[in-house]
Amino acid sequence: MANWTGKPVTILGAARSGIATALYLANCGAKVFLSDAGAPNDEKLSQIKELETKGVKVEVGGHTDLALNFADLLIVSPGIAPTTPIIQKAKQLGKEIISDIELAWRENKAPIIAITGTNGKSTTSALISHILQGAGYKAPSCGNIGVPILSCFDLEPDFLVVEVSSFQLTYSPKFAPKISMWLNLTPDHLDWHGNLESYIAAKQSVFAQQRNMQISILNADDAIVANTKTKTQIFWFSMGKPVTPDFSLANNATFQRGNELVLKKGGQETVICKTSDLLIMGKHNVENALAAIAACAACGIDAEEIGSHLKTFAALEHRLEFVATVDGIKFYNDSKATNTDSAIKALESFVDEKVVLIAGGKDKGTDLTEFVDSAKNHASAVVLIGEAKERFASAFAKGGFKEIHRADSFAAAVDLAGQLKLGPVLLSPACASFDMFRDYEERGRVFKDIVRTRLKKLAPSA
Ligand code: ADP
Repeated sequence: MANWTGKPVTILGAARSGIATALYLANCGAKVFLSDAGAPNDEKLSQIKELETKGVKVEVGGHTDLALNFADLLIVSPGIAPTTPIIQKAKQLGKEIISDIELAWRENKAPIIAITGTNGKSTTSALISHILQGAGYKAPSCGNIGVPILSCFDLEPDFLVVEVSSFQLTYSPKFAPKISMWLNLTPDHLDWHGNLESYIAAKQSVFAQQRNMQISILNADDAIVANTKTKTQIFWFSMGKPVTPDFSLANNATFQRGNELVLKKGGQETVICKTSDLLIMGKHNVENALAAIAACAACGIDAEEIGSHLKTFAALEHRLEFVATVDGIKFYNDSKATNTDSAIKALESFVDEKVVLIAGGKDKGTDLTEFVDSAKNHASAVVLIGEAKERFASAFAKGGFKEIHRADSFAAAVDLAGQLKLGPVLLSPACASFDMFRDYEERGRVFKDIVRTRLKKLAPSA
């Protein structure tokens, strides 16, 4: 742990992680300057007041030279892209720029398990945390999942299970956690990174920074992930299509064999559980479970214990979350599916029955061919909403899909989807929510409220 007494530090960005960083450093005796470009709301204002009582200097409404000149060390919010003028200027001035994740790692309070990847980070982080906590360890999940890593220090954790975004990795030049995991890579966030190469480089950096005795958990089926250069021990996971010959030679791996999830540790194989034992649905969640098994095995948790807690992990909110059965129809909330890739994953999770899909919202303008193909296999009807309604409707019609419905409001869409009685209702919009809601979380909660209200109407005493 560093001695912070009297050391100046500038924090750029007063989102949750910036506030937690300011609080942590102020409590350690550092001289802290917190600078935010936005206008604070009431909640932020009261947090700022509390920080000011601890001696933190705060500026809002823009980053000034005062903030930049205050310190040589800058802790930067992942919301601020490297191309923004303030970061460019800080680089020119030779400032040290790091994320709160790197700061937490440097403070060395507990071993870190870092989870990155384009998709599945939150689910896998929560799953690892669930298993480790079930095994009796204090292992909060934090980072990009919404809980600032530095706010977890007070718990005196045994492990920190940290969801890490490529943004945070970009500002983590030395970060070398005990265990780091890379789930998958598909093109995303290219506006922030500038291009695909920088996005991949951000993900790769942590594995290059790790040292010999540390561990990398890598997806053997993903061509980019499987080619990661690292000096660490590798723990592979695979759904059965490894693209690297290293996988079959590995002593440490997890994989699916038939309907079993298998752990190979030190060359010895143990069946952890069956796919049907998992409460989370879909192939992508089997993959997340395999990655989580690898992480927990690497932490020294025994196979039986891993299996018993894996079986009690339920889906996170808004990710294929079962809501209720109303009038014989099951309703699922997958509001987190803000793009077609995620919605396809949700559709593919229904193998025994076709769903009534509620889709649409703020259109991202991406190609819909694969999405429509998947809906043809897994949906009996679609109910379309929001700005994207007409473009989606013509793509479904063009693809030969028959049961296409439109709804004028979200509530009408949920009602209609249930009344069709053509299978379970799945809200998996494949669109952002901003045309009708503040964010995907509000959309998911409104969906659940509508479903539960329908349930109450049918059974007022329930
Ligand atoms: P993230 O935190 O990376 O956004 P989440 O766990 O919140 O990931 O899952 C978001 C969506 O990503 C899910 O609803 C699902 O559609 C998709 N997803 C989850 N896990 C995977 C995976 N292993 N591979 C591909 N897609 C996945």
